[in-house]
Amino acid sequence: MARYIGPVCRLCRREGMKLFLKGERCHSEKCAIEKRNIPPGQHGKDRRPKILGYGLQLREKQKAKRVYGILERQFHTYFEKAARAKGITGENLLYSLERRLDNVIYRMGLGTSRAQARQLVRHGHIQVNDRKVNIPSFQVQQGDVVEVREKSRKNPMILAARDATAHQPAPSWLEVDREALKGRVIGGPKRDELVQIQLNEQLIVELYSK
Ligand code: SF4
Repeated sequence: MARYIGPVCRLCRREGMKLFLKGERCHSEKCAIEKRNIPPGQHGKDRRPKILGYGLQLREKQKAKRVYGILERQFHTYFEKAARAKGITGENLLYSLERRLDNVIYRMGLGTSRAQARQLVRHGHIQVNDRKVNIPSFQVQQGDVVEVREKSRKNPMILAARDATAHQPAPSWLEVDREALKGRVIGGPKRDELVQIQLNEQLIVELYSK
């Protein structure tokens, strides 16, 4: 599946907030939002325009896509499935994004960013229920055991990420054994523990429902 490979701090500057796309750098003073929080482009220094209506809905969708590193077509597929499922569409959408394997690895603290976690999955370092899974969009289910494969347990990138994210608590729906590089899904994601940024999923639903 295709992914965005351009400059990522630009995406945060467009949204005017930290989207935490770059791991440790996001928590340092080098963060572009800390240094100069202005929109990208030639007219970025002009006043940030007030956004209303459609623009607001569009920005919420873009934020969600960017946080989870997903492009339009795949994001729309997530929305369609969420709309067909029982329950509140906006929450269903966030739940399925949150249950992506790359996000689970990030939430377990084995990657400093979702992009790094996605790379770990793509490169075959992760297994689910004793079977190698190299698909970042794989949906974990309650009871699944997600862990670093035996051959990758000494991978310096994984160990460094685990140490760097020691301050970051895992969400309550994941039981994580950081020493064993292992976690178990013990429930469903909870709305108040979802994305670290302010996001109004209802606006995304309104956008796609036009
Ligand atoms: Fe860049 Fe991270 Fe700061 Fe965003 S939060 S501007 S990705 S350093």
